[in-house]
Formats: sequence, C-alpha cells, structure tokens
Amino acid sequence: RPQVTFAGRSNVGKSSVINRLLNRKNFARVGATPGKTSQVNYFRIDGKLYFTDLPGYGYAKVSKEERDRWGRLMESYFQEPGLISLGVLIVDARHKPSADDVTMCNWFKEAGCPMLVVANKVDKLKKREVEPNLEVIRQTLELSPDTPLVPFSAEKGDGKTEVLSLLSQFFA
Ligand code: GDP
Repeated sequence: RPQVTFAGRSNVGKSSVINRLLNRKNFARVGATPGKTSQVNYFRIDGKLYFTDLPGYGYAKVSKEERDRWGRLMESYFQEPGLISLGVLIVDARHKPSADDVTMCNWFKEAGCPMLVVANKVDKLKKREVEPNLEVIRQTLELSPDTPLVPFSAEKGDGKTEVLSLLSQFFA
C-alpha cells in the first residue's frame, strides 16, 4: 500500500498538520510528550493509503537510551526498500532548519522517494517574512527545484488545499 511518511522535529506541529489534512481533531495526538513518541503510528486513509507518523526528533531533554532507540527505529524504517511512497518533511516556517532536519531530509533523499516539505506555523510570520524564510529553508535543506515547499498553518488551514492536491496528483 502507498505510504505517505511524515517526519519532523518534536513540537513542529506534525500531529496538528496530520489532523488538519484529515479534518480530524484528535487523530494524531497533539501535545504528546516530546521525545516520548517512540513508535511509528499508521493511519489508514480511505482504505487505500497509509499516513505514517514517524516519532519526532531533536528534543533536547531526551535520554541517550531513548535517542539510540529512535535511531535504530529510523534505521530499520528507512532500510525497508520501497516502503515510503512519498516523504513529507515538516519544518517550522519561522526558523532555519536544524541539523536534525537536514539529516532527516537526507534520509528521504537517500531513500529515493519523492518528497514535499511543509513549512508549518506560517500564521506566526508577517506576510513579508514568508518568501525569504522559504528561501532559507529551501537552501538549507538543499531542495531540488522540483521539490514542493508549501507554507502551511495547521492552526488556520493555510496550505491544506495545496498539500491535498499534491497528494492526489501524486497518487493519481
Ligand atoms: P508535534 O509534536 O510535532 O506533533 O506537534 P503538535 O501537533 O503537538 O503541536 C505542538 C504545538 O504547536 C501545539 O501547541 C500546537 O497547538 C502548536 N501548533 C501546531 N501547528 C501550529 C500552527 O500552524 N500554528 C500555530 N500558531 N501553532 C501551531
């Protein structure tokens, strides 16, 4: 089954983005303890697509054991050939992507799957800040020109139509 795999730093709003795309309030758990989501969550969509929610990363207050466990989980997930049909990396529209974001982005690239990047919390930016921030994100992640980078607000709903249309184009 086609799998859309969502990844992002703890607290970036990954659960909120998934809930917004699915029109659900509490499908994915919003505000779950950062760093404690140590399993991969699968959501079956319309019986034909899977949304896969990878545990968040980059939370400072996580024990070495937890971090190692996360690393092994990611390794086994990304090693599975052909598992990911489409990667969705969620970053914070306000900030330059972290080293962890870059690493995650490279895992998707190495997996050879197409990807799209969602810049969440765009509601916290002034309008004139959006384009320059997107440019910093595109450059830091070294995105190819054909990789979509969508400004998004899980809170307000901006970008939802665009992401859904990219998903349906992809799986058409
Ligand atoms: P996760 O850890 O990545 O799954 O993040 P959550 O979905 O739990 O969200 C973390 C926090 O960010 C919560 O307090 C959300 O209400 C908030 N949040 C998520 N998306 C947005 C957004 O688009 N705009 C704003 N302003 N806050 C958001």
